[in-house]
Amino acid sequence: MYQLIVVGGGPAGIAAAIAARRQGMKTLLVERYGFLGGMATAGLVTPFMHTLGAGGLYQELLERLNKWDAIKDNRFFDGELMKLVLDEWLLEEGVEILFHALLTDVKVEDGCIKSVTVSGKGQEISLSASYFIDGTGDGDLAALAGAPMNIGRESDGLCQPMTTCFQVGGIDVGIDDTYMDAYKARKPLTELYLEAKKEGRIKNPRENVLIFPTTRTGEIHFNTTRIVGKNPVSLFELTEAELEARKQIIELFSLLKEKVLAFKNAYITRIATQIGVRESRTIIGAYQLTEEDVLSGRKFPDGIGKCSYPIDIHSPQGEGTRISTLKAGDWYEIPYTALYTPSLKNLLVAGRCISSTHEAQASLRIMPTCMVTGQAAGTAAALAEAQKLTVDQVPADELIRVLKAEGADLR
Ligand SMILES: Cc1cc2nc3c(=O)[nH]c(=O)nc-3n(C[C@H](O)[C@H](O)[C@H](O)COP(=O)(O)OP(=O)(O)OC[C@H]3O[C@@H](n4cnc5c(N)ncnc54)[C@H](O)[C@@H]3O)c2cc1C
Repeated sequence: MYQLIVVGGGPAGIAAAIAARRQGMKTLLVERYGFLGGMATAGLVTPFMHTLGAGGLYQELLERLNKWDAIKDNRFFDGELMKLVLDEWLLEEGVEILFHALLTDVKVEDGCIKSVTVSGKGQEISLSASYFIDGTGDGDLAALAGAPMNIGRESDGLCQPMTTCFQVGGIDVGIDDTYMDAYKARKPLTELYLEAKKEGRIKNPRENVLIFPTTRTGEIHFNTTRIVGKNPVSLFELTEAELEARKQIIELFSLLKEKVLAFKNAYITRIATQIGVRESRTIIGAYQLTEEDVLSGRKFPDGIGKCSYPIDIHSPQGEGTRISTLKAGDWYEIPYTALYTPSLKNLLVAGRCISSTHEAQASLRIMPTCMVTGQAAGTAAALAEAQKLTVDQVPADELIRVLKAEGADLR
């Protein structure tokens, strides 16, 4: 019997597990893959987006990545080294880990989760705990427990597009030094891409080529495939999305090899293990964060994290990306009430599936902020356990005090 089970080992889940463990909870982290990191590793999303308010465990992760020489400019990290850094970190903290375990069922009695079932290799294992945290990104645990959920935008339920990230190495920067700097390379590559789109050779609906540096010279990270109109929690639609995104990779990679001299001998170094999901289910919590909260820089008495990243919506339908920024230097707060739903007494939610509208989620979904909500959820679970409280009874001022003592950047 565990005191806490965290399902999902992405940025939110790892932060939740470490935070709870540091407060003394016997914690199990359950993950469907054989490594941690979520989108940061399986999704090959290797730049951190910057925001105010990402202190605490996120800063500790940066320190660890720097020690391994696995990150450039505190932003672009090596997705493979990230796996090693996270193994080492979680084990040092004393978090127990169960890999290759897919959450498939949840038992609830009187609004309390009693156990979860994980499946793999022909086995079904039932695991019990006093508290549970959903760090699955897709809200699988909350949905299986019967929590009220939302998916996509209010008007039509469409989510942000999915993207399979890939990285190309062997780019000859001696031939053309434009490709030393991925930001400089965006313009010529986009011109070529748009020309090929006009000719019908490129079918990707995206409006430009979105690329970032990696930790290596002669290698570029591509965040540029775009799959629209598919439901990220339908297995059939996910399959179609995986296949279509990899077709887009072939289209673009072969175009670059053929038309750009510096790419003549280039090769694909990595393709993400799974298609990247920006948005899917979110819980409908005690409070749902909105676009107005984000853009007005709203502060809450129970604010457990802050964020200044803009609303960044890749069009769910086709071309275009909408960016709406906060006032310079301002930030909004994420209230504790966005991390639970009143109908479940021992479940907290962290990361990109917390209670937020399509628009607000498009800001708080970045990895540093997912770690912030993870740290808050793990800490809240420990406070609840210590006093045998339901999650809605956790005193917010006490939670904020402990988070600050653990390095969180709060008022
Ligand atoms: C293409 C793309 C580009 C992005 N770009 C950036 C960027 O540049 N910078 C940035 O900071 N953020 C970026 N983001 C956002 C960010 O990567 C995610 O929002 C963030 O990783 C979400 O963290 P999470 O922990 O909530 O979920 P995830 O990272 O999705 O992790 C969820 C974890 O739960 C596991 N899991 C899921 N379901 C189950 C189950 N049923 N049983 C067991 N385990 C399960 C998964 O395997 C995974 O390890 C991007 C996202 C995408 C998709």
